[in-house]
Amino acid sequence: MRKKSTNSTPMSKPGPATVNAYYSPVSNRIVFPAGILQKPFYGKSQPKSMNYGGIGMIIGHEITHGFDDIGRQYDKDGNLEQWWSDDAITRFKAKAQCIINQYGNFSLPEADGMNLNGINTQGENIADNGGLKQSYRAYRDWIKQRGREESQLPGVSYNDNQLFFINFAQIWCASMRRENAINRILTGVHSPGRFRVIGTLQNSPEFAEAFSCPKGSYMNPNKKCGVW
Ligand SMILES: [Zn+2]
Repeated sequence: MRKKSTNSTPMSKPGPATVNAYYSPVSNRIVFPAGILQKPFYGKSQPKSMNYGGIGMIIGHEITHGFDDIGRQYDKDGNLEQWWSDDAITRFKAKAQCIINQYGNFSLPEADGMNLNGINTQGENIADNGGLKQSYRAYRDWIKQRGREESQLPGVSYNDNQLFFINFAQIWCASMRRENAINRILTGVHSPGRFRVIGTLQNSPEFAEAFSCPKGSYMNPNKKCGVW
């Protein structure tokens, strides 16, 4: 699996084989072409933990786009209209600023150490953070309804919750050349995959608990950002 973008506004209309998903604020809908419904995002034989960490997180991501810095400006019928109170907008902006600062502090070695653009990538980062949180909740709900944890994979010592986060990280695994890295920082709305993983997990108390990350460590900082 290579780069996946999961856009809020697709560059071109994707066909069924496209490995991508998107949210359209104008039609207020989320779209998942058949191409993304495969491993590592989704697999019938994969543990549910991995499916929730994969396609589940993507679904949550696309839904959250409806409430990010752009999606929030469109009402349920796709009209560009303010439907939030001024107070809600002020509070949203304060929460978004935390995300902007966090991601803007990441620097990418492949791009000669350039910092990410926290402003341009805020919508995608907000969607990642909301999507992961919602999908984890949905997974734990599913376990609760089922009444027992999933059985462990043979030869793998990770538990269900750890597998959820491991597959989330796996879906963003990719490599890039220096030129591509610089171009992505200058023009992209997505954070590079590494920071889609690190940034989102740093904000997740559930991740820290699953992997027993010490409080105040790099992956479990005291200051956490979250919009939704
Ligand atoms: Zn997106």
